[in-house]
Order: sequence, then structure tokens, then C-alpha cells
Amino acid sequence: MGHFAVTSSSCDDQLEKSLIAGSVCKNIDDSSDDDIDKLKRLNKSNVSEVNSSVLPPYVPQDKTNLEKYTENFKGDNVLGIQFKAPLKWDKVIQISLLHLVFIYAFAVYPLERLSIWTTLFAFFTGGLAGFGVTGGAHRFWTHRSFKANTPLRTILMCCFSLAGQNTLYDWVRDHRVHHKFSETDGDPHNANRGFFFAHVGWLMMLKHPEVIKKGRQMDMSDILADPVVQFHQKHFIALKMLLCFIIPTLIPVYCWGEEWMLAFATQCIFRYVFSLNFTWSVNSAAHMWGNRPYDERIMPSENLFVSLCAMGEGWHNYHHVFPWDYKAAELGKYSVNMTTCILDAFSKIGWAWDMKQPSKELIKRTIAKHGDGTHEVHGHHHMKEVPHPSEVEIQDEDSFDENENLSPREKKAL
Ligand SMILES: [Zn+2]
Ligand SMILES: [Zn+2]
Repeated sequence: MGHFAVTSSSCDDQLEKSLIAGSVCKNIDDSSDDDIDKLKRLNKSNVSEVNSSVLPPYVPQDKTNLEKYTENFKGDNVLGIQFKAPLKWDKVIQISLLHLVFIYAFAVYPLERLSIWTTLFAFFTGGLAGFGVTGGAHRFWTHRSFKANTPLRTILMCCFSLAGQNTLYDWVRDHRVHHKFSETDGDPHNANRGFFFAHVGWLMMLKHPEVIKKGRQMDMSDILADPVVQFHQKHFIALKMLLCFIIPTLIPVYCWGEEWMLAFATQCIFRYVFSLNFTWSVNSAAHMWGNRPYDERIMPSENLFVSLCAMGEGWHNYHHVFPWDYKAAELGKYSVNMTTCILDAFSKIGWAWDMKQPSKELIKRTIAKHGDGTHEVHGHHHMKEVPHPSEVEIQDEDSFDENENLSPREKKAL
């Protein structure tokens, strides 16, 4: 698996030109050739339905010298509190200030001037932003759990920009690393480092060297090949400012005469802070509290509260076992999985297709072998006599023997 780790800016230009011209930049970094070849192939395939060669490919620049970074990686000590990593003070201040303003605005908000339209609009934009994160960055770009045409990918990208989070490239890489190296030093929001770190602390401090190392191993060629992602990366700041803050503030003011301050407070503070915390709760609460009916050996759990807040992303024990299921849950009941409801609607009109999900049989066997016995349907069949998960290997779907429970005599009779 190649990576785009060390790329000088001159080589970036060279790479850009060579990708457009159809040749490979040889002196960039030998290990990148695989990705570049794959990127070229993907560019020619149906991943891009528009002519992607006219779009300059965004290639991330990671100039970190990992050896020096690891050497200098020592936790800060602030007022006697020892942190495990150096703090990113700009982020500490930004995130703390945003939450302090949130508390202040909440306390002084003139409830008598609360408009029903402004409130409904905040829920609407919050829902769109949530869908951009869950249906777009997460289920589509990170896990490739379905296919989507260009109009849907564009909608997903706009909704994701409305959420005001990181770039798609960073989001997807971090989340792929999270799944592959869950609850280790390589996990960007390792839940073993406590609730606060998994929730928001990880954004306020430098990444553990292992996170950077593992991130460089991720194959991101599919992301780089998508012209919609390229557009997002190129115009990241403008899209974030316009779609997350400016337009949502202007609409209440010009469409139904909301006061500037109240429009700003509901969109740029309340909706934004709630939306961020709902997303973060998947990494914190859903990695700590809840049942583990599919695999009791891992931390991710089934958490109804997170599912309600994060539009169906709280069925996290299931999601870590079957990350490629577009429902991110076994059943995908719409009331607790709004994202699935919207994706099914797009599937009905043909904008989304190849909605991936595991067979019922595979789920049932996984529950029986590794679950904690709390599954609402199959949980009762989970008997304590079943050997500990570490002692059994899960079988491939193909090698499943439906007669495995028959006695030798019964087998002979077959
Ligand atoms: Zn997770
Ligand atoms: Zn995931």
C-alpha cells in the first residue's frame, strides 16, 4: 500500500502535471507509485463522471519528519497537570472559547424573541450537516458502503461543508486509521485515553507518532480520484465559511426578518456546537457505554442516545464489526437511524446503488460466537458453553457448514 507522505511542493507540481499528462512522477517517492497508478486508473473509471483531468489533483503535503517528531514528542505540563502529548494551543483556545460563548449565549438568549422559523431552520441545517458527516464523510467516503452519482456526491460534500469540520481527506484518513487500529496508540481518538480525549481532547493536542505513521499507510487513492473531493479540498475554507456560517445566518435574516444577532447565535453557535458534539459523541460515548451484542471483545457499543443525536451512528458495536454496511446498524430502523432513511430514499430514485450489507446468517453466527448475549433477538441463544472468543476462529461465509451441529450418525444418514 503506497502513501503520499513526503512530497515537496515542486514535486507536487510535477505530480499534478504528470497526472494530467498521464505519466508518473518518478522522483517523488517510490512508494507513492502504487497510489498514483491506482489514481490514474480510478480517474479513467466511472468514479468520476465528469472529466477529472481538468481538475488539478489535490495532493496532501505531509512534511513531518517522523523520526524528529517522535524524538520531540513529550507531553506538556500545564499547572501541574501532565498531558500525554504537546498541546495545540490555537485549538485549545478556539474550542474552549466556542464552548464558553455557547454557554453565555444560552444563558442570555431572549426566549421571548425565539422565532419558530429560526428554530425549525436550525434543526433543518443541523440535520443536513449531520447527514453530510454520517452519509457522506463516514458511510460513503470512508467506508465505501454504497455507490453514488455525481449529484448525490455533490450534495453530500455540501452538507459535509455545512457541518464545519476538517477537510474530507483528513476526516476519511483519520477514520480509516481509527477502524484499523482501534483503541491502540495508532487510533487518533483512542478511547483508552479517557472520555475527554476521545471526545474532543484529541483535536487539541498533537497526534501520537503512531497515528501519523499509520495514517501514511492508508490507501487514499480513491478519495484523491474523486473530483467532488478535489473541489472540496481546493475550496475548503470558502465552502466552510459560506455553507457553515454565512449562508445559514443570512437566510433567517433575509427570508423571515430574524435579528442578526439571533440568527448568528442559533446557527454559528448553537447549531454548530451541538452538531460538533453529536459527532464527537460517536468516538467517546459510543466507545464506552452500551451493550456489545456483536463482539464483546471490542470497546465500541450500541448506544441509543448517540444514535438519536448522531442520526443512527450510535450502533457502534455493530459498525465496528461490519463497517461496510451502509446502514451502520443491523436493522436501520428509521426513527433511530435517519441517515439510512435518507440513503434509502436516494437509492429509490437511483442516485445511490450497491448498498452493501452482510447476510443475516453471517450476523447471526457472529452474535453467537462473539456477542455478549444481549442481542434482542439472538441474544437468548447465546449460551455460556460457547467457548471464549479468543479460542474460536470466525468462519468465512463460504466455509460455513450448515450441518455442523449434526451428530456423526445423523451426518452419515444424509
Ligand atoms: Zn469507532
Ligand atoms: Zn466508521
